Amino acid sequence: KPAQAAEKHYTIGTDVTYAPFEFANEKNQYVGIDIDLMNAIAKTEGFTVTIKPVGFNAAVQALEAGQIDGVIAGMSITPERQEKFLMSKPYYNVGVVMAVKQGSKIKSLKQLKGQRVAIKTGTAAANYALSVKDKYGFTTVTFDDSNNMYQDVTTGNSVACFEDSPVMQYAINTGLKLSIVTKPANPTGYGFATNKKNTELMAQFNAGLKKLKANGQYTKILQKYLGTGS
Ligand code: GLN
Repeated sequence: KPAQAAEKHYTIGTDVTYAPFEFANEKNQYVGIDIDLMNAIAKTEGFTVTIKPVGFNAAVQALEAGQIDGVIAGMSITPERQEKFLMSKPYYNVGVVMAVKQGSKIKSLKQLKGQRVAIKTGTAAANYALSVKDKYGFTTVTFDDSNNMYQDVTTGNSVACFEDSPVMQYAINTGLKLSIVTKPANPTGYGFATNKKNTELMAQFNAGLKKLKANGQYTKILQKYLGTGS
């Protein structure tokens, strides 16, 4: 009888902490929408994964260097990234918002003149901030992870930061003392990324996502992290 084909195994990079998409729980296990989606898709499509929380920019760099097979990290689908990578069908819609310390007088981009703003390396939100930096006359300081970026604002070193709307809202809902002061800009979807050559893994991801959406598992995963309003 024919030998059964061995299940393929993939290494997937993710952010260190980007709740509700990926974060360590009280038991120090990585959980979140991205983690559950990836594991559920692997299960339906018959492959196995090891998820490595290396940081957002580090994960994207590792993918580009061919050191890992994919990235799931609340990664925005952008034309630039689609040139370099395969990106899946969108699985969550987001936009970029500006957040300030609670009680701050700063409420708009115009009030950033001459001020310092915190951004996160290699992110869509950082690109957005850099694209309007000259127009509004602010300077930027860069961090590799979201928590350090937020902290620069809560301590008052920076007056604002730029982050994806659902991530910023989740952090505020769970106690972070920042406020969102702008409407979401540059709307896009989150997608899973692989190298251009990895068409098999990408096809499996898209097929799996479609099944999870059809059988209700996708909604269950969102509700688990966002509540029933999602
Ligand atoms: N969505 C943003 C991007 O793709 C940020 C992702 C992240 O920080 N994990 O650039």
